[in-house]
Amino acid sequence: MKQRKMIKAFVLLAAVTLIAMPAWAGNGNGAGEGITPLSEVEITYLNFVREEEKLARDVYLLMYETYGAKIFSQIAVSEQQHMDTMLKMLDKYGLPDPASTVSGVFNNEELQDMYDYLVDWGDESYIDGLKVGVMIEETDIDDIGEAILSTDHVDLVTAYEHLIEGSKNHLAAFCDTLEKQGEPCEPQVIDQALFKAIMDVY
Ligand code: MN
Ligand code: MN
Repeated sequence: MKQRKMIKAFVLLAAVTLIAMPAWAGNGNGAGEGITPLSEVEITYLNFVREEEKLARDVYLLMYETYGAKIFSQIAVSEQQHMDTMLKMLDKYGLPDPASTVSGVFNNEELQDMYDYLVDWGDESYIDGLKVGVMIEETDIDDIGEAILSTDHVDLVTAYEHLIEGSKNHLAAFCDTLEKQGEPCEPQVIDQALFKAIMDVY
């Protein structure tokens, strides 16, 4: 619960910080003709999710280096694809990429803090690494759900739905692996009903 509150606080702070930044919407820089520019809130979420997907990728690559378990490298490939999907949306709207090319480095301070915290936790043991995976995927489902509610652009909604689909798969995979290690898998971020539905379907 403590972890949940911490991460939630990071997300809210991130949104406030980004909203305070200059708006890029409407500059038309590179955006195609006839595209309705994104609002500041839509840009805030798009930037946030782009870097949040990088956080997932970077943490899993590090967990793979530490434990050599294929679940981390396989899911990292999927997170790279999710990063690419977000970059496609940024490019489409002529927006600059907020993501650093350096592993473990984030322009969003709150995501940097979250990364540092999760990497410390995951370093404890393989089981902790899997629990970090569960925490990341639940947080992604929650945050991307909010991102969907922030927009009426059908392309963004479709992109976000694609990412959530992946997160549900990843959550089920981390939970299955935890349970095979004799560890229970309980939701820490999303509600019990959604968690159970995901476990039943995926
Ligand atoms: Mn993802
Ligand atoms: Mn994921």
